[in-house]
Amino acid sequence: MSQQVHTPIQARIQATNRSGRHLDPVADLLVVGGGIFGLWSARHALKQGKRVHVVEKRRVGAGASGGFLGALMPHMPDRWNEKKQMQYEGLRSLEQAIAELESDTGADCGYRRCGRLMPLSHERMLHHLEERISGAARNWVDERGKQIFNMEHVAPEELAGRFPTLGGDGWLSPQIAPFGAAYDTLSARINPRAYLSALARYIREHENGSLVEGATVTAVDPAAVSVSLADGGVLSAGQIMIANGWEAYGLLSGIDARIGNQKLTGRGVKGQAVLLDLPHDDNLPILYDSGSYVVPHGKGMSVDASGNANRVAVGSTSVDDWLPGDADEEALEAARTGYDAADTGFFDHARSFCPALASATVVERWANVRPRNTIPDPKTGRIGTEPVFGAIEGHDRVSVAAGGFKISFGIAHLPH
Ligand SMILES: Cc1cc2nc3c(=O)[nH]c(=O)nc-3n(C[C@H](O)[C@H](O)[C@H](O)COP(=O)(O)OP(=O)(O)OC[C@H]3O[C@@H](n4cnc5c(N)ncnc54)[C@H](O)[C@@H]3O)c2cc1C
Repeated sequence: MSQQVHTPIQARIQATNRSGRHLDPVADLLVVGGGIFGLWSARHALKQGKRVHVVEKRRVGAGASGGFLGALMPHMPDRWNEKKQMQYEGLRSLEQAIAELESDTGADCGYRRCGRLMPLSHERMLHHLEERISGAARNWVDERGKQIFNMEHVAPEELAGRFPTLGGDGWLSPQIAPFGAAYDTLSARINPRAYLSALARYIREHENGSLVEGATVTAVDPAAVSVSLADGGVLSAGQIMIANGWEAYGLLSGIDARIGNQKLTGRGVKGQAVLLDLPHDDNLPILYDSGSYVVPHGKGMSVDASGNANRVAVGSTSVDDWLPGDADEEALEAARTGYDAADTGFFDHARSFCPALASATVVERWANVRPRNTIPDPKTGRIGTEPVFGAIEGHDRVSVAAGGFKISFGIAHLPH
């Protein structure tokens, strides 16, 4: 058996597999990156009977997927298009995908279809809401065209009674919602860290899976279907999946990667969020307004002495120019995850529409960098926020799954 171990990385691959089975040093699929996309790529391949190695530079959850927001919020159901349909299919099927993952691993991923409430501050928003209510009837449907999720208008005077907090405040301030609010039943929330840890457990415990942390892929060789590692090792595989978040754009530019004749480009957009200690009965929806969102989490994340769920997450910022010029690796890591205490606009705004947050204490501040594609739509030239999935042109054994920006958790489980 030991003759098969050629490099330190291959020895580590053996060491990480918990099934006790000896793994072939050449996997069917080698995944670069242990974030939500990479871990789902690995789970899909293991389910298909493939041998899978995941190589992660830092540790699972060290990237944009390792936070605590976990909002699963649909695009608006009017002005429908293919991209909205793809996200809808993701949000609709996620419940079942999570149930299967929980059944395979015994984990609790903290998923709940909690709905979302958005204040209406101007009369003209009522008109938009009518279009969205009709859009939901047309588009939030099952295979037979029957509507299964809806959007509705909640009148201002109903807000406090329908969405009360334990402290007696309304969850959404009536001051910010003089025309009431839009409520949808499709939005959900998940506990990102519990979710990632369930996926990682599934891979580590699978007899055909391994997950090595602290190993950096420095280059991809599409012709040889192999990757080079920072420690000098080389790993070959039947297929390679590049899923290393915003850092994927560096690997992709190294191989001049294209799909549909479009060069695969993108950038990292930094975001930050806070986690609060605020007891609630886990019956509240996500609140969303002008880029700020408030996500109540369940008992699996934390409970207080009375047995109430007591974690609420608030997000988030979007900063493009966070990357310092000429930074060494240490400065880059500090810039990537450093929390900017001056950038609190998102939190101040959330407190203005959710008065219950005023009494809550901050238990964690977190920042990280999301991958955002900058690939223009071939028809419109518009740069969207959709991820890119699929095999790279001319190299059908090298694929990419990157650029989910703010919606990755709702779509990462879709086959890719
Ligand atoms: C503030 C904030 C709030 C967010 N809120 C939400 C939300 O509410 N809902 C939602 O759906 N999503 C949210 N996200 C997550 C967002 O959707 C991201 O798009 C998503 O987490 C990206 O997942 P990923 O797997 O592509 O990348 P990542 O999670 O970043 O994973 C990439 C992994 O690859 C590793 N890696 C990098 N380079 C290499 C290399 N060379 N070799 C090996 N490994 C490497 C990294 O260490 C990292 O672990 C949020 C993100 C942030 C920052």
